[in-house]
Amino acid sequence: MQDKNCDIVIIGGGPVGMALALALRGSCLTVMLLEARGLPEKVGDERPLALSHGSYLILQRLGVWDKLRRHTSIKTIHISNKGFFGRTVLTAEDAGVPALGYVVNYHDLYHALYDATLENGIQYQIGATVKAFATDQLSGHVQYAHEDIENNMSAKLLVLADGGHLGGQIADIAFQTQAYEQWAIVANVKAETPQTGIAYERFTSDGPVALLPSGSDFALVWTTSPETANTILALDEKYFLHRLHAHFGDRLGRFIAAGKRAGFPLSLKYAIPPTSQRIALIGNAAQTLHPVAGQGFNLGLRDAYELAQVLLAAVSDNREIGTPSMLARYSQLRRIDGQGGRIFTDSLIKLFSNDNTLLKHLCGMGLIVLDNCPPMKRFVSRRMIFGARG
Ligand SMILES: Cc1cc2nc3c(=O)[nH]c(=O)nc-3n(C[C@H](O)[C@H](O)[C@H](O)COP(=O)(O)OP(=O)(O)OC[C@H]3O[C@@H](n4cnc5c(N)ncnc54)[C@H](O)[C@@H]3O)c2cc1C
Repeated sequence: MQDKNCDIVIIGGGPVGMALALALRGSCLTVMLLEARGLPEKVGDERPLALSHGSYLILQRLGVWDKLRRHTSIKTIHISNKGFFGRTVLTAEDAGVPALGYVVNYHDLYHALYDATLENGIQYQIGATVKAFATDQLSGHVQYAHEDIENNMSAKLLVLADGGHLGGQIADIAFQTQAYEQWAIVANVKAETPQTGIAYERFTSDGPVALLPSGSDFALVWTTSPETANTILALDEKYFLHRLHAHFGDRLGRFIAAGKRAGFPLSLKYAIPPTSQRIALIGNAAQTLHPVAGQGFNLGLRDAYELAQVLLAAVSDNREIGTPSMLARYSQLRRIDGQGGRIFTDSLIKLFSNDNTLLKHLCGMGLIVLDNCPPMKRFVSRRMIFGARG
């Protein structure tokens, strides 16, 4: 069978893959998105995503922000260390932005991006599962199944945005992996005290627990060991709410209702380097992080946006896309941001989620120092908002 041809095949039409396709809209590049899932209506993933102000600006530029059904502003982030002194409060005012971030859920974001791809006439094939791919010096070749029919496609550049499934097929990319032995439980919860724009990040020896403002309630991300997660997921609502109250403390009063719960195993995994011959990795395919401090999608969105800028620059200079020098440029552009996101989230987990009392006291002191040093707070906030390059 003869290959179909285009300039770029994006493998994985999740949020990051769709963002890349949208960032290339209006250019002369022909782009094909291949997505394994079926109808987007069936994407019922309720995980909350805290989008930074920087991501808000990118999604606005991509024409996606106004399509989001719901989003809730984070005006303040309250960080504490359970059982120890010390806390830090970061505010939007200190960081010089209207909001530190916005809470949306994965499902709504997926839909908003999908609607924007339809509106912009982007070629998006759903139910198309990529089985294998290979590259040579001039192009990449993809084999995928669609409605039980095998198809082949070739492009000058393959972009892997599959959330981290197929990267192992690339011989010269190594993956660093570390399982955190933690799961994240997510659910919407209602507390006696309604949300007031404050996101709570509370570190405990088991792992961080976050309560993010969402509508008038909260979106919970509770990390704990896999065994405890299984127990918590199986509790009936009344015991679940009691257990959450005992774990989080009394700052918001009792918890009075909870929506559907879901659990996610957590690990750190990243590609070295995030490129190979005629291939670039973006989003979770390039790095999967712990959800503490909500960095994963924000980082992936910047991967997509910056790759698009490198591609558009090549087109406007009449240079070929997907060449070693273009890919080296992308890799170099993303190095500091990618490393920064990984080191930041991994260090938070190592420092705060342990039973070492001395270390916990030191972390508490660190929070006090940060709280009393406005320039440092501004530095931390701006890196959380705009990435390691601030
Ligand atoms: C509990 C939790 C909370 C989180 N909170 C935050 C947060 O607050 N802020 C934040 O920024 N990030 C957060 N994240 C991280 C965020 O969810 C991810 O970084 C983001 O979803 C990555 O998007 P992606 O498009 O790269 O990958 P995915 O969302 O995994 O999408 C990959 C897509 O590729 C498709 N695919 C896979 N294999 C194939 C194949 N063979 N062929 C074709 N298509 C394929 C999949 O169907 C999917 O649609 C959180 C993660 C978790 C688990």
